[in-house]
Amino acid sequence: MKKQDIFRVYQDCILNTYTRVPKIFVKGKGMNLFDIDGKKYLDFFPGWGVANVGHCHPKVMSAIRDQVSKLIHIPNNFYHIQQAKLAKELIYHTFPGKVFFCNSGTEANEAAIKFARVYGAGKRFEIITFENSFHGRTLGSLAATGQKRYQDGFAPLPTGFKTIKFNSLPVLERGVTENTVAIMLELVQGEGGINVADRSYIYKIREICNKKNILMIVDEVQTGMGRTGKMFAFQNYDIKPDIITLAKALGGGLPIGAMIVKKDIADTFKPGMHASTFGGGLVICKAALGVFRGIQKDKMLKNAQKMSNYIFDRLDAMKEKYKIIKTVRGIGLMIGIELSVEGKGIAEECLKRGLIINCTHNTVLRLMPALNVTKKQIDKALHILGKALLKFSQK
Ligand SMILES: *Cc1c(COP(=O)(O)O)cnc(C)c1O
Repeated sequence: MKKQDIFRVYQDCILNTYTRVPKIFVKGKGMNLFDIDGKKYLDFFPGWGVANVGHCHPKVMSAIRDQVSKLIHIPNNFYHIQQAKLAKELIYHTFPGKVFFCNSGTEANEAAIKFARVYGAGKRFEIITFENSFHGRTLGSLAATGQKRYQDGFAPLPTGFKTIKFNSLPVLERGVTENTVAIMLELVQGEGGINVADRSYIYKIREICNKKNILMIVDEVQTGMGRTGKMFAFQNYDIKPDIITLAKALGGGLPIGAMIVKKDIADTFKPGMHASTFGGGLVICKAALGVFRGIQKDKMLKNAQKMSNYIFDRLDAMKEKYKIIKTVRGIGLMIGIELSVEGKGIAEECLKRGLIINCTHNTVLRLMPALNVTKKQIDKALHILGKALLKFSQK
């Protein structure tokens, strides 16, 4: 198919739910993407945080190749090795608990919402969520999402959610009632503009949850799998959640979601209460194991921490030079640059110059390079970003 034919088919045959950039990608390797014209791009926003180990990591590719040649799917009323191995790996990296496998972030959060409802046993059902949060597009997760713009047009949404201000302890203390069964949050709000939760705030949430037997549900769909320099974001905070939800980078590019529930409450779910046809399939679980191997083998957490320091230092220096940068924030390699102007044009200018970044919340540029990014690649990206910032500074 030729370029124009592909664009036309999308126009004619694919529902118009995305604002798309007219680029067609055909190949990826590590930090790079290649388009249909053979042009190379430096990818500082790999799939909304899917390719944390880079595009087509060899460990992921060989895992997939190996598994598809043996067996692709068996239903969840049987057993298989890959799901067992992945569950063990996930527990090893988090806390003593049990895993439910599904296919996406929104599904992982739906599982957590359903779990909380069962945990409340009909007596408590309210889940507290936060302004500017993002938990997914299916109705339950959408109701949990604290941003009107995603919810508009879909009323009535499921009830039982209370959205309150983020990072404000007095507001939280007023918000918790006898009816509260869970508090659900991101430790770094990704779609909300890279808003980092305060340590003291998270500590306090843990305390409230302990005291009132409330579930602390941490959505690690975007922050997980090394994004913040630790395997999971909660490990930056000296607390353990009761439930975490995962997706995005877990499958190295294939769709997977997971909910991990701490052990002593895990039996709240009984056989028949929740299910997924594809959840925890053989190929995807093996791919996810490949992601863990890749992170380990290439010492990516250490690299992410080192590169994080480097990039934040460089961005702080750029803040002095480019007055349109208001603040730089984030943890690890989850980085937001808040501007005093709209960021969309700057992201587009970067793309023209061969750098992929994202703009969220109108004024926040988001950088989330793969965990094995090098200094040289950061230098190149920031050079391009500087040019784009300069162009928009003069306007
Ligand atoms: C992307 C995202 C989701 C939704 O994940 P999908 O796989 O697109 O359903 C949920 N929570 C957070 C924090 C996310 O970033």
